[in-house]
Amino acid sequence: MTKLIIALDFSSKTDVFNFLDELKGETLFVKIGMELFYKEGPSIVKEIKELGHKVFLDLKLHDIPNTVERAMKNLKELGVDMTNVHASGGLEMMKAAKRGFGDKGKLIAVSQLTSISEETMRTEQLINTTLEESVLNYAKLSYEAGLDGMVCSAMEVEKIHHDIHKDFLCVTPGIRPKTSERGDQKRVVTPTQASLWGSDYIVVGRPITQANDRKQAYLDIMQELEQN
Ligand code: C5P
Repeated sequence: MTKLIIALDFSSKTDVFNFLDELKGETLFVKIGMELFYKEGPSIVKEIKELGHKVFLDLKLHDIPNTVERAMKNLKELGVDMTNVHASGGLEMMKAAKRGFGDKGKLIAVSQLTSISEETMRTEQLINTTLEESVLNYAKLSYEAGLDGMVCSAMEVEKIHHDIHKDFLCVTPGIRPKTSERGDQKRVVTPTQASLWGSDYIVVGRPITQANDRKQAYLDIMQELEQN
């Protein structure tokens, strides 16, 4: 079944814990990004874990293999359940990241950011291919490096599961229930559709964190996923 990861894109610890308090009684999988992590430090991960929740630490590491391996060891010790690296850091960097992070949590890759257009990719990165080919190439590299999966669009899941491996985890943002606003997400997919396409995890932020009734918004998405 497709699992839900809630993106905690809040700028303060108070907002995070107010939110978690509203969902008391639920065991959650939450995503913490660099804004919150750089403000609050590793203790925020520990505090959320102590409440029994799982943490996806979205820091998108990209450095030389030795540095990334050592940083990943620290994230493993922190008890992070999922984290990520940029696939453009290369095969050796991804292998080193996996060595450092180990097998207890899931290590996934980020391919081309959604803010990069095909034109930018061709003119700035000098990658002379289609965006789709580049994403697939990064998927192959990260699988070869022993990573557990990648961040991608729900629209790419079937192809990645088919071309790479059915167990290669697809973690998909850009999700909007039918009733919510799109925000700045351009191509959106409903939880049901993402689930039908085989998404392993959907990442949902604002449709839950900015809803009038946040617990109900969370429960509605959970119910939608359970029906598929
Ligand atoms: O609020 P919303 O549901 O759009 O949040 C989605 C989350 O997924 C945000 O934390 C965003 O940074 C992240 N994300 C994304 N698109 C990507 C990669 C990550 O929306 N390609």
